Formats: sequence, C-alpha cells, structure tokens
Amino acid sequence: MNPITYVAPADASEALDALGGHEGNSMAVGLAKFIAGGTNLIDLMKENVMRPVRLVDINGLPYNQIEETETGGLMLGALARNADTAYHPLVRSRYPLLTAAILAGASPQLRNMATNGGNLLQRTRCYYFYDSQVPCNKRDPGTGCSAIGGLSRQHAILGASEHCIATHPSDMCVALAALGAIVHVQSPSGKRQIPFGDFHRLPGDRPDKDTNLAYDELITHLELPEAQAFAGHSVYLKLRERASYAFALVSVAAALDLAEDGTIREARLALGSVAHKPWRDLQIEAGLVGVRPDAAVFTQAAEALLSNAKGQGANDYKIPMAHRAIVRALTMAAEGTVTNTGEPYISEVTV
Ligand SMILES: Cc1cc2nc3c(=O)[nH]c(=O)nc-3n(C[C@H](O)[C@H](O)[C@H](O)COP(=O)(O)OP(=O)(O)OC[C@H]3O[C@@H](n4cnc5c(N)ncnc54)[C@H](O)[C@@H]3O)c2cc1C
Ligand code: SF4
Repeated sequence: MNPITYVAPADASEALDALGGHEGNSMAVGLAKFIAGGTNLIDLMKENVMRPVRLVDINGLPYNQIEETETGGLMLGALARNADTAYHPLVRSRYPLLTAAILAGASPQLRNMATNGGNLLQRTRCYYFYDSQVPCNKRDPGTGCSAIGGLSRQHAILGASEHCIATHPSDMCVALAALGAIVHVQSPSGKRQIPFGDFHRLPGDRPDKDTNLAYDELITHLELPEAQAFAGHSVYLKLRERASYAFALVSVAAALDLAEDGTIREARLALGSVAHKPWRDLQIEAGLVGVRPDAAVFTQAAEALLSNAKGQGANDYKIPMAHRAIVRALTMAAEGTVTNTGEPYISEVTV
C-alpha cells in the first residue's frame, strides 16, 4: 500500500503551494499531482505507473465556466467537464468540430467526470506503459522501449523516436490543435499562454515528458480563438476497432472556410493517434488555400502530410488508413458540417 495525503485547496495559489516542489519545500518534484476528474490518474495509480505521495484536488477551484472572450472566441475552464463543454450551446454552434471530437471519445459516464485540463494531460495507451514489469522509457527512463519490436499495432507513424513510438490518445486535443487553441497556465512565478501546437512534445530522447508544461504549472483555461468561418464545414472522423468506447486508430479533424466562389479560403487539418502529439502541418494547410475542393487536391494533401510516415510493421496499416481518412474527412467537410450529437448542425443558437 502506498500512503497518500490528500488536500483540497480553494484557489490556485493554495493549489500551487500544496503541489510543493518549490525552493524551501522538502517535497521532491514529481511526488505530488493535481487531480481533476481522476479518470486517468486513478487508473495509473492502481497500476502502480504513477505513484504520487500527495493528491491536490483542484475540483474546488473556480475554473469550470465557459465564457465568451472579447475577441469573439470562447474561454473554456480547465475544470469544465468534457460533457458540459461538448453540449454547451456556444461550443456546439461555433465549434461543432470540438463537440464532435469530445463526443467521439470515451463513454458518457467518463465524459461527465473528465475535465478539459485533464484531457490534455492524459497519458498514452501503450500497453507496455501500463505494465510496470516491462521496460518503458516513458514510465522508467533509460529502461528501453518494449513496443519497438513488440506489440505496436496502435503506435506512431509520424514523429516517433528510437526511444518511444507511443501516440497521444486524445480526441479532444485533435480538434483543439486544428482550432488553434491556446492553453492558459498559472505557476508560482505568474501566468503564461502556450499555443496548442507547442503544448505536447515529440518523444525525442525524453519520452517521459509528454508536454512542455512545467511541474508547478496549473492549467486554468483553454482559449478558443474566433473560428466562426469554419463552423459550417467541419468534421471529426474517428476510425477505431469498435463503434464506441474505443480509442482511435487514426482520427482526422478537418475544417474548411469556403469563399463565395467555392474555393478554399482557409483550411485546418489535424491527425490524431498517429504521433506523440496531435499532428498538424501548417504548410499543407496553406497549400489548400485558393483551390477548389476536390478529391485530387485532398489526395495530394494526404500524400504530403504522410510523406515521412513510417510504420513498425504491425502498424503499417495506419498509413493507407490515414491517407483515406484525410481525403474522406476533407471531402465531408467541404460538403458541410457533420455532427455526432444525433441532431443536425445549427449555426446560431441563443444561450
Ligand atoms: C476506459 C476509458 C476510455 C477512454 N476513452 C477515451 C477516448 O476514446 N478518447 C479520449 O480522448 N479520451 C478517452 N479517455 C480518457 C479520458 O478522456 C481522460 O481520462 C480524461 O479526459 C482525463 O481527465 P480527468 O479530468 O479525469 O484527468 P485526471 O485523471 O484527473 O488527471 C489527468 C492528469 O492531468 C493532470 N491535471 C488534471 N487537471 C489539471 C490542470 N488543470 N492543470 C494541471 N494538471 C492537471 C493530473 O495531475 C493528471 O496527471 C478514456 C478514459 C478511460 C478510462
Ligand atoms: S512506445 Fe513509449 S510508452 Fe510504449 S513502451 Fe515504448 S517507451 Fe514506453
């Protein structure tokens, strides 16, 4: 049995103090963790993968609201539940891509519990990461990677390293990447904002570090920039082994802003479950600007996006699968927004 202390601070500064790890505090870095919905952390503790000595329960902090920003975007509280975010009228009408991505993930019960901040920091689903008896550089740096040469069916085809081939499993994060979200964080030294593309890391030689978030930083909000132009043409396509309650093998977030003459004014394209982070390539998006949406153009984009893709054998199937998914998602987006709430997409709602 591992002894754990539990604290439930009332505000951010108390939470950061309780986390410890600052100068003058005897608690070593890495031994205390924030807990939000607990849907990933508790599983990892049960499997002995993460062993915090202190849990800092942040559910009492005032970050569960979803509010409009002055610039026409939305500020999502880090502690707003995934379900409340997906079904919020302003998210559904302005960011149907985000609603679709969230609702493609997990189960209703999990989405009711899981928070926006926690979703970003969920750990990989690599089988070996969860098995503390086998080598894994992400769990125990320097021990090796059991997935290379092992079971790698679900692993990365882009951006992997010789130290780790894990993928980031989130659906929500793929939409947040495509929408250009900004992560707002607070630490004892102040506040900062992290563009979504810089939040998650590629594994390199430090696969134990999933993100560029410092140990003593608390996510307070996710900011969605104004993106009304994409609302009418966006799709989240998730390919998986079961129709529900399964992580993606490959997923695609596609959003288009179409001009009056039918050409593409702006495009957004992000892939999920193919790399250590949601995969977005701004050059390929720029290459779609000014052209008329059709299968040939989308095929070229898919080829370019996957030109450096490399499988491990067991996951080679992901390359043609991702190729077809990109073409299909962009084609669907050009035709109009697809929701998975069981209702037609409504562009204007009153809150
Ligand atoms: C069976 C199952 C199936 C799932 N299927 C899917 C799926 O298909 N798609 C998908 O996207 N997800 C899926 N998930 C993952 C689920 O979405 C995540 O577990 C959830 O989003 C994590 O949020 P949480 O609030 O519960 O995080 P927690 O478990 O509380 O925390 C996760 C991590 O984030 C840290 N943390 C939490 N909040 C903050 C904050 N504000 N600031 C700094 N650090 C913070 C914690 O310290 C911890 O390290 C599944 C989970 C399960 C158990
Ligand atoms: S792929 Fe990454 S998480 Fe999986 S065993 Fe290798 S080092 Fe560990």
